[in-house]
Amino acid sequence: MAMILYRCADCGYRANVLGPGHVDGGIKYQTMICRSCKLVVDSVVARHVPSESGIDTPGVHWQEVAAQCPHCSGGGLLPWPATHPCPRCGGEMDDR
Ligand SMILES: [Zn+2]
Ligand SMILES: [Zn+2]
Repeated sequence: MAMILYRCADCGYRANVLGPGHVDGGIKYQTMICRSCKLVVDSVVARHVPSESGIDTPGVHWQEVAAQCPHCSGGGLLPWPATHPCPRCGGEMDDR
């Protein structure tokens, strides 16, 4: 799976994250910030639920789940803003 490496020029923190809107094996991920760990993490935000009525309904159903930090199992994660702030120092992280 393709990962994107972001780097903070100010403090040297690096984060390897999945691209936006990543779906893998019926699981939807979103890149979030854990305020407890001060880490950028990829968290599960939804799971695919097969239709109960069978093959007549091709609709794809997603069940949203509460985002959880994969390191501390804590909740309260924040979506990582498009400006890609560093969770350590608040500087801007760059993918180059
Ligand atoms: Zn930083
Ligand atoms: Zn955490």
